[in-house]
Amino acid sequence: MSLEKYWNDALKKVSTTMDAGKAMWLDFINYTGDDGDVVLLSCDAEMYKENFENNCRSTVQKALDDCAGRHIEIILSISEEEENPEPVNVKKQPKVQPRKKNSYLNKNYTFDNFIPCENTMFAYNAAKAIAINPGSSYNPCLIYGGVGLGKTHLLESIGNYIEEKSPDKTVIYVTAETFTNDYINSLAGKKIVDFRIKYRKADVLLIDDIHFLDEKISTQEELFHTFNDLYESGHQIIFTCDRPVSELPNFTDRLKSRFTRGLNLSLTAPDYETRVAILKRKCEEKKTRIYDSVINYIAENVKTNVRDLEGSLTTLIAYANLLQTDITLDIAKDQLKHLITAPTASEQDISIVDITKVVASYYNIEPTQLRSKSRTAIIKDARNVAIYLSRKITQYSTTEIGNFFNRDHSTITHSIDNIEKEKKTNAELAASLDTIETKIRSKSR
Ligand code: ADP
Ligand code: MG
Repeated sequence: MSLEKYWNDALKKVSTTMDAGKAMWLDFINYTGDDGDVVLLSCDAEMYKENFENNCRSTVQKALDDCAGRHIEIILSISEEEENPEPVNVKKQPKVQPRKKNSYLNKNYTFDNFIPCENTMFAYNAAKAIAINPGSSYNPCLIYGGVGLGKTHLLESIGNYIEEKSPDKTVIYVTAETFTNDYINSLAGKKIVDFRIKYRKADVLLIDDIHFLDEKISTQEELFHTFNDLYESGHQIIFTCDRPVSELPNFTDRLKSRFTRGLNLSLTAPDYETRVAILKRKCEEKKTRIYDSVINYIAENVKTNVRDLEGSLTTLIAYANLLQTDITLDIAKDQLKHLITAPTASEQDISIVDITKVVASYYNIEPTQLRSKSRTAIIKDARNVAIYLSRKITQYSTTEIGNFFNRDHSTITHSIDNIEKEKKTNAELAASLDTIETKIRSKSR
């Protein structure tokens, strides 16, 4: 049975109780269909989605559940028209394929507009290979890397590609947070069977940001079973995570071993040429022209990740639109000064040796003692600090750091976790860490 009636009833219900300033955002939301226990909505712009999420969702959710007599999930996506918020005179391209009713994917994320660099070319090609032939050679697959490096983009590109080429395949994209909420709600509503059917019917299951599940042991347990079920039926599973799974301290070993069984793809920050190419591409997408000098300036100074690159561009375009002016290099420098700080240490190639020198001198010991087997309290403490700072400041993996300190990578992870925990309650340690870090960074200037 269609859920539209419940949706309309819910809207009626909230219209009398909700603050008008909040309720107005509901006018921008369209009901587009439903899928089992999920109501699908769309709106034309990010702004409407944001306001719906902040002002309306919780009230409407409650009303909808009351009207239906059970929990109904609400999924709001931004319709394709919005994704090109472009001027009226631009003729819209015909859509290649109508948006599938049950597609929760962001259609903006495609292989075409993902620009790989040398370091990410392998990940990009492997992701494409999976999309062309899901469930075959690279199953499961884990894409990991820091924030804003394109994990979601690549993950959803796979989903979009499969949906376009094989519309008969069921692609499910969820964030780990949605998966968790879904699971909790299904338990609360005694709908665990429905939950299992929903996820296990996927031909391709894409779960974004699984680090969110760290410490959520019972959701991990459920994911483990979902995983086995899909894997055994040859269905494709792809996850993203902000670090290698081995570095998730509170993941069960059996789930970790499931993840590491497959293909692990790492994404790293793009190099200079790729940053320029990405900026140019984003300008094209936004149909904006920006001087090369400005593009080069951004690419030279914003090195952290692609999200920050995009953020810089958005800031400048907003400024130019508001003041109806061209973006000159001076304007760019002025507008981005809050974003562009002195280069961080990792960009200046601080080595672990540099770090151990400063740490050893701070604790009044010899650098070689940090790599020794000694378990004397002071050396152990200093070693933990050196390990922690090596991970924080450099780009080395825990395995590489382990090689340096003559320890395996789980000992390294353990040391990092210990410091992370202790510095929250031990102000003295926190202050020492700050002092040492500042010394390391200033030495490298
Ligand atoms: P993550 O999930 O790793 O935090 P996202 O996939 O959300 O990062 O990427 C952040 C933004 O940067 C998105 O708008 C995405 O389209 C863009 N982006 C990231 N990497 C690339 C790339 N290599 N080429 C083009 N755009 C990219
Ligand atoms: Mg993401």
